[in-house]
Amino acid sequence: MQVLENISLKPYNTFGIDVKARYFAELYSDNDIAEFYSSLTPERIPVLILGGGSNVLFTKDFEGSVACIRSKGIVKLMDDEQHVYLKIAAGEVWDDVVKYAVEHGWGGIENLSMIPGSAGAGPVQNIGAYGVEFKDVLYSVEVADVISRHYRSFRPADCEFGYRGSIFKTREKNRFVINSICLKLDKQPVLKLDYGDIRKELVNAGIRDVTISSVRDIIIKIRSRKLPDPAIMGNAGSFFMNPVISADEYDRLITAYPLMPTFRSGEAIKVPGAWLIEQCGFKGKRFGDAGVHEHQPLVLINYGNATGEEILALAEKIIKSVKKKFGITLGKEVNIF
Ligand SMILES: Cc1cc2nc3c(=O)[nH]c(=O)nc-3n(C[C@H](O)[C@H](O)[C@H](O)COP(=O)(O)OP(=O)(O)OC[C@H]3O[C@@H](n4cnc5c(N)ncnc54)[C@H](O)[C@@H]3O)c2cc1C
Repeated sequence: MQVLENISLKPYNTFGIDVKARYFAELYSDNDIAEFYSSLTPERIPVLILGGGSNVLFTKDFEGSVACIRSKGIVKLMDDEQHVYLKIAAGEVWDDVVKYAVEHGWGGIENLSMIPGSAGAGPVQNIGAYGVEFKDVLYSVEVADVISRHYRSFRPADCEFGYRGSIFKTREKNRFVINSICLKLDKQPVLKLDYGDIRKELVNAGIRDVTISSVRDIIIKIRSRKLPDPAIMGNAGSFFMNPVISADEYDRLITAYPLMPTFRSGEAIKVPGAWLIEQCGFKGKRFGDAGVHEHQPLVLINYGNATGEEILALAEKIIKSVKKKFGITLGKEVNIF
């Protein structure tokens, strides 16, 4: 394990923001993680754990240590008639895990295809897409507690999962390093096709015998068309969450805006944040090198040399505008540092 000094984080965040980490290390194993924490001196604190950097916005240099988790390994722990249990090192690329599961015919995560980042970050914001959330397939999360230095296992009920959130993103942010996750996947996959354009695209592609493999292919096709590729255009996916509104707010808003789209997620009523942002005139707008994506207004873009502060200022401008017009506060999905 090597600790480097004054390293640019530009290659380590998908927004492509050029800030420096005072100290920087890449950790390839649980031993590296333990060694890194035991060698921490006061000037190397605080520590920021990073996976693929696809859900962070850096607004300034980081005056502590940034540690990228790079551990690899997918192991079948056990199986029974219905399920297979996979232990996955935190540094695995999430989409490689999805590909692996699909290739083996194990269902449950195919709808989470093509979400950038690491497996270890999955529980942090309870990643979700196309009607599936990480919590639906989780068996356990193995962590190191940076305060007590003990290892601990979290079952889903301990993780306080919510919409794009968990204990690891809220109450105990930065307390635990996630070393690995264990997923419980289905040997007889149950397809989830009722979200977004999945069914329509399957029909258009002439696919009749739908498998988890065809679902993965279709989702990759839809996402490639709709979302900007961070390798070409800096971004961190949806910058904002879809706001959840109360029944009273719904009544007030639908009277004022009869065309307002809403959707239900369990008990909650959600308004598409993209629609709110578009109504405020931000869709496709560019302010210097910071902008709003032309097809998906939830996504903020770094067109080249935007600073994190410029992206954040744009986000705040959008939040203010949506609040003024609709009385709704947009929450940020991306972690700001
Ligand atoms: C084009 C694009 C599309 C996206 N689409 C989706 C989507 O559909 N659904 C969705 O939910 N998200 C989406 N995202 C957001 C992002 O991909 C996910 O949040 C992903 O899980 C982040 O993984 P990461 O490894 O890059 O995390 P990072 O950005 O590196 O870290 C995110 C947070 O997790 C913490 N963290 C990371 N690894 C660990 C660890 N091992 N232990 C403890 N804490 C850790 C970090 O400290 C940070 O607070 C998208 C992003 C992009 C760029």
